[in-house]
Amino acid sequence: MEKKLSLIGVNKTYKLDNRETFQALYDINVEFEKGELVSIVGESGSGKSTLMNLIGGLDSDFSGQIIADGEDLKNLNEKGLDKYRKNKVGFVFQSFNLISHLSILDNVTLALTLSNVSEKEKVKKATEMLRKVGLHSQLKKKPSQLSGGQKQRVAIARALINDPEIIIADEPTGALDSQTSMQILDILKEIADDGKLVIMVTHSEKVASVSSRVVEIADGKIVNDHINKDYKKNVKEVDDDEPTLVIPKIDLDADKPKKKKIGKERQNLSLISAIRLSFHNMWASRVKNFLMAFGVAIGIGSLILMMSFSSGINDFIDNTMKSYSNPKIVTVSKKTNSMADALQYDKLKFTDTDIEELKADINSFLQEELKADINSFLQFEVNDDNIDFGFSLMTMVLPEATVTDRDDFEKENPKNIYYLYSIPPYYSESNVIKGTMSQETTYKDGKIEREDGYPKNGGGFMFTKAIYKLFPNESSDNIIGKKVQINLRLPDGTSFTFIDKICGIMDTSVMSDFLVAYIDYKYLEALFNEKAEGMFAPTNIYIHTGSKSITDKINDYLSDPKSKYAGSLEDSLAGMFSSMSSTVGTSLTVISCISLLVSAMMILVVLYMSVTERTKEIGVLKSIGARRKDIKRIFTSESFLVGVLSGLMGIIFNLLLTLIIWLVLKFTIGLAPLSYRWWYFLVAMGVSIVISMLSGLYPASKAAKLDPVESLRRE
Ligand code: ADP
Ligand code: MG
Repeated sequence: MEKKLSLIGVNKTYKLDNRETFQALYDINVEFEKGELVSIVGESGSGKSTLMNLIGGLDSDFSGQIIADGEDLKNLNEKGLDKYRKNKVGFVFQSFNLISHLSILDNVTLALTLSNVSEKEKVKKATEMLRKVGLHSQLKKKPSQLSGGQKQRVAIARALINDPEIIIADEPTGALDSQTSMQILDILKEIADDGKLVIMVTHSEKVASVSSRVVEIADGKIVNDHINKDYKKNVKEVDDDEPTLVIPKIDLDADKPKKKKIGKERQNLSLISAIRLSFHNMWASRVKNFLMAFGVAIGIGSLILMMSFSSGINDFIDNTMKSYSNPKIVTVSKKTNSMADALQYDKLKFTDTDIEELKADINSFLQEELKADINSFLQFEVNDDNIDFGFSLMTMVLPEATVTDRDDFEKENPKNIYYLYSIPPYYSESNVIKGTMSQETTYKDGKIEREDGYPKNGGGFMFTKAIYKLFPNESSDNIIGKKVQINLRLPDGTSFTFIDKICGIMDTSVMSDFLVAYIDYKYLEALFNEKAEGMFAPTNIYIHTGSKSITDKINDYLSDPKSKYAGSLEDSLAGMFSSMSSTVGTSLTVISCISLLVSAMMILVVLYMSVTERTKEIGVLKSIGARRKDIKRIFTSESFLVGVLSGLMGIIFNLLLTLIIWLVLKFTIGLAPLSYRWWYFLVAMGVSIVISMLSGLYPASKAAKLDPVESLRRE
């Protein structure tokens, strides 16, 4: 008859830290048969647990042969050993080693969970098993709510759930009083009588005396092997109070043909079960996890805030810039070489010859571009029909202008310096001029309506809102129609005085704090010509390109350092703003990256500590057949859950923060540049999950690599 378990010439040597070794077992030769209830006895430190760990497949570092159920353990690789532990042996420990955050039922089903058995089947089998050990009414309890004897019964139920051939119990009664010990012993005896091989380590002579065989170990050697002749197999009496143990057969493959599942998939811990297990664990230490998630949430929430702030500023700049430029219009001015030149009207103005030259320059540039890229749509030519003129003198010192109330006219008291602009063609009623126009002056499609070159109902100036500061006693209603005098002195000494009424207020957001007088170009030209015929010339040329791509091309040409021309001041302002906002964006990104790094470190530390705290649990999982992969999966699921939780909390945190910041900014500076895109929240969630999972990689692999023997030894 084939023996259930044979050990042939087994030696076990522990490697100690300082390159020394310690031999714990010497040349063990022993055979066990099914149906035996073996007691292993011996002094503490004699090698009993070492032997148990070898038999149980927890420790595969030995020499010699261990043949269990026809299988040579030496021939099994890691996977094979996992399977062996899962299906062939069941462990019972002195300290029960139940997983405290799982219910009794979940503790027992754990081994089935690792085999991906269906929920219904699991519960059925576990309930049945717990009924056999008399605990079927306590399924929902947590281990801490049970007595020691009850805990050990649960541990036995857990060890039996996969119907193993060999039960290994390392001092199963060591933590129990003698009466409870005998009850546990009864159960173990019944298991043996049912045809299993039960090997237990015990210190109790009483326990040893009831077993079928006693093997004594001293200093790593078997010194005595005694068969108890008086041992009687249990004659099953029918007793309603005492639970009788008939182990239900669990055939893991029983429903295989029906379900037609791939065997590989079926045998392992499913992702859902892993998530459920980690959820249980996270719930068990919910305060810690909540605090950690909150820490990460601060980082995630700030990340969203940074993104929305960054795009808020960009939106703000974009909107502001829209009032300065129109993608279908190119503004050209003359490039000046020095600040002094920039003040010279002569250096800025376009004469008729200049205009012809400009047209020729741009047209030949476009021709070249077209030649270089035959497929492009640059079929555009600058001609008299698509250009417009403009005037802007924006030096800080000159021109000098004064504004006076008509009644105070005589005083000619200069109050401020003005910028005089012609109204650019891209200003439109809808997006720029939100102010009021006087009744007399009609304004249509960005231009004052004209008759014979003159404004239809007389011209007038439009001012930015800053004009109110000059007339502190006027309301916005009756400032319209007020006459002002503007003195404009050109660099050559010629000065001009324009007196006209205020016909409108321009609301151009950014410029509104500067004192700018806008005037219709044609009207301005006429006013100039009245005083000095032939003196007036435009400083800006507007090209109506009709398409953004041509605008971009021409702007490229203008911004070329070799070009004689420059874009508009507005364009360079826009460039400055966008580089500013990208600087702001970059620094915000750096800040949030740092905060995310801190979050990642925090997750790493917490998960790492969790691995240390749960060393024993990991050992238990391994003893019931969990593979490295399964352990990794449980911990990875945990970091995934941490990521989801932190992401959610981060979003909530962000919404609260945004509300507060928005209120504060609105009521202080009146402007809250925060723009949200819906996908920011997805990004935040994704970042949170990725960060948590990355931070969880190391702890998870650390947990997976834990040596089961070491972890179980840990107290
Ligand atoms: P028992 O269970 O009989 O009390 P053990 O099998 O736990 O004894 O230990 C047997 C001997 O092996 C002891 O001297 C113990 O110190 C030693 N030992 C056990 N585990 C290790 C280990 N991981 N490293 C080094 N020595 C060990
Ligand atoms: Mg021991």
